[in-house]
Amino acid sequence: MITLDVVTAISSMLLLSLTAVFAAWLYEQRRVRKSGRDARSSAYLEQCPYCGQVFMDYQERIIVECPTCGSYIEEQKGDV
Ligand SMILES: [Zn+2]
Repeated sequence: MITLDVVTAISSMLLLSLTAVFAAWLYEQRRVRKSGRDARSSAYLEQCPYCGQVFMDYQERIIVECPTCGSYIEEQKGDV
């Protein structure tokens, strides 16, 4: 039988959760880098072709909804 004291159990649980958070952060960084977008990029800027409203799209979606007129806009390739 394995015997653990309280300090070892708590520190191993803490280490395990920190490793999980670090792995999730690495995965997210790799995903963002692969998509070619980051928080400072202007690629999130969208313009509605119907009403001309310019707005920010914070999520990577293929189809975005205009906040002014509610039209669905398909993201254009090479749109910056
Ligand atoms: Zn619009």
